[in-house]
Amino acid sequence: MSALYLHPDRLFPTDEATRAIARRLYQEVKDLPIVSPHGHTDPSWFADNELFPNPAELLIKPDHYVFRMLYSLGVSMADLGVPSKAGLPVEQDPRKIWRLFASHYHVFRGTPSRMWLDYVFSEVFKLDQLLNSDTADTYYDRIDEYLQTEAFRPRALMESFNIEWLATTESPLDDLRHHRKIRESGWKGGVITAYRPDPVVDPDFEGFANNVAKLGEITGEDTGNWAGYLAALQNRREYFKSFGATSTDHGHPTAQTSDLSVAECEALFAKALAGNCSPVEAEVFRGQMLTEMAGMSIEDGLVMQIHPGSFRNHNPQVFSGFGRDKGADIPSQTEYVNALKPLLDKYGNDTRLSIILFTLDETVYSRELAPLAGHYPVLKLGPSWWFHDSPEGMRRFREQVTETAGFYNTVGFNDDTRAFLSIPARHDVARRMDCNFLARFVAEHRLPEDEARDVAIDLTYNLVKQAYKLD
Ligand SMILES: [Zn+2]
Repeated sequence: MSALYLHPDRLFPTDEATRAIARRLYQEVKDLPIVSPHGHTDPSWFADNELFPNPAELLIKPDHYVFRMLYSLGVSMADLGVPSKAGLPVEQDPRKIWRLFASHYHVFRGTPSRMWLDYVFSEVFKLDQLLNSDTADTYYDRIDEYLQTEAFRPRALMESFNIEWLATTESPLDDLRHHRKIRESGWKGGVITAYRPDPVVDPDFEGFANNVAKLGEITGEDTGNWAGYLAALQNRREYFKSFGATSTDHGHPTAQTSDLSVAECEALFAKALAGNCSPVEAEVFRGQMLTEMAGMSIEDGLVMQIHPGSFRNHNPQVFSGFGRDKGADIPSQTEYVNALKPLLDKYGNDTRLSIILFTLDETVYSRELAPLAGHYPVLKLGPSWWFHDSPEGMRRFREQVTETAGFYNTVGFNDDTRAFLSIPARHDVARRMDCNFLARFVAEHRLPEDEARDVAIDLTYNLVKQAYKLD
């Protein structure tokens, strides 16, 4: 049996002088509340506050980082119990799924998933042996036993994790019934929504024309024409704001923006509804919608997040069998300097607007993103994202953007996760890595320690709340 042990100095510098500084900085931030302004947890958890059914349902099925890795090494989605949209038979026995996962746990060595999961096992479930085939049942029984207790209801967990704000992400077609239930329950937990209009602004999204028609039904606007369509989008933004939304989120294949005349928009929109857009026209339309959303943000104050560059559903067989968000999204090369120019020419100097840029293409950090955010008042940089949400990714991000964008054009950490239990683990990694980075500045006499401490607190807490207008 190997012990599961979280070293108190994990992720800190290895030389003693710098490590001592990192430890001191970390003491200042480790207990600050968690602000999670962007993510994909299921709002029904907090609305219904039911017990989580079993370990597999909680820790494996919602975590595409987990089944992506296992799938890549030959484990089938069906054996992991991932629900099939094509109606394929999938494993139903949660203990079998758990054993399969445990027998493959070694494949996560060296990955952030391993760090996050070990943190959850140790800190949340008080397990002290490593997960493997031999300990699989011990793990299952312990986790299952804990999940039956009141302390493990979603709201109680959110409170014990010290999560002050938690944003979920919904489509404009969502009626936000779970958020309504949360509000009506009188519970004070800070669960809010965010407006993600991809299904109704991307001509290539499954069912685009039907989605736009449904948007019309929901809002009472005529979404068959351009003006009615814009009014409907605006109407839903107001509705989302009434449930606490402070941000929008845009998951486009590229960062392209456009600035067309109204006549051009009308013509292109008609084509999109008819399903007649060429790939280039669809790209121009999505780009126009980013610019339209920026204009609406100036009016209603919602912060824009742009998450471009993911080639979604790269594996058609997995997509037809199991649907979206199953670990088959692959980063692609992404350009920003030319792509954002139409939007920036129009709105780049309007300080009522705030746009947070993300990337899956790390080659643009120092060449494009830091100079853009280091100039335009409307632009800020989101943290290292998704494939780069790792200690190495965080280090590369800070090393490449700080010289030009500084710390104050960044917005702290986003966990961006569906895996609720991993939230404290992920924020802990981010806090440790920021302290690690700052400790080097102090050790090199580039920043006094009291200033580094202020920066660490700002990156952990203040900048996040400011950037996402949470108060
Ligand atoms: Zn996201």
